[in-house]
Amino acid sequence: MSPQPPAGDRTEPGPEICVVGSVNLDLVVGVDHVPVVGETVLGGDLRRIPGGKGANQAVAAARLGRRVSFVGRVGDDEAGDVLRAELTAARVDVAGLLSTPSAPSGAALIAVQADGDNAIVVSPGANHRLTGSDIGSMTSVAVAAVLLAQGEVTLDAVLAAARHRTGLFVWNPAPMPEWAGQVLGSVDVLVPNQTELGTLVGASVPDDLEVVAAMARSIECPMTIVTLGAAGALVVEAHGDRHVPAPMVRPVDTTAAGDAFCGALADAFVRGLDPIEATEWAVRVSAAATM
Ligand code: ADP
Repeated sequence: MSPQPPAGDRTEPGPEICVVGSVNLDLVVGVDHVPVVGETVLGGDLRRIPGGKGANQAVAAARLGRRVSFVGRVGDDEAGDVLRAELTAARVDVAGLLSTPSAPSGAALIAVQADGDNAIVVSPGANHRLTGSDIGSMTSVAVAAVLLAQGEVTLDAVLAAARHRTGLFVWNPAPMPEWAGQVLGSVDVLVPNQTELGTLVGASVPDDLEVVAAMARSIECPMTIVTLGAAGALVVEAHGDRHVPAPMVRPVDTTAAGDAFCGALADAFVRGLDPIEATEWAVRVSAAATM
């Protein structure tokens, strides 16, 4: 038998990935087509699914075997209890998930078409109460090898996380916040989809790989990895770019494909893969997630 250290000396290893982000209860209905303004459509049975871009990305990385710590806010309500329990069940550390008496938990209303496309309304609730001083007290932000954040919490929280981190800052500007321009200067790896890239540079959605590359290069960020839906992803660095195609799959629901991509990318960076290898891994994992 190997000698055991005294109980007091046993310390849990710290998180490899810290996600500073949103957690929502997603209310999902399958529809034939998403309604246009003024239209009412009948859908299938309502499903209540834990979501939020931050929580989705945290769970994706934890499922890939990483130690993940989540920093965010839920309401002091039943949805908050459900969300905390779900993250815990997914082996995500929730010591940094704060309870907020003054606001309900975040929610997302999601209509999913039979072809897998979707339309989403988000009610941020407690997610928008996360402050910079909340972040300052979280050691997980400072110690993780990768800080992963999105656009569903406050600018104050994201900037504080960027200041306190010592690891690689991977930022997914989704959904695109109006304050995105104030974060770009702190980001190591920017991960927009094509729509977000267009918005970031004030142009229409790029449909051609060369235009995607030119737009990404115009952003002052050491590395941009643009997700391209069924076309995979484009890695853009100062010295060149590389297209990583997606495998052919039959998507059932593309709702959280971008979140699976970001979780897998963070996992790959923790494991020391280079940006191309990391993107190849993220493209495979996110394609599988659409099925
Ligand atoms: P978002 O979901 O954030 O809008 P994308 O639609 O670009 O982002 O999807 C993110 C990633 O998911 C893509 O880079 C790709 O790797 C994968 N993906 C999405 N849709 C498909 C698809 N139809 N077939 C294969 N992979 C897909």
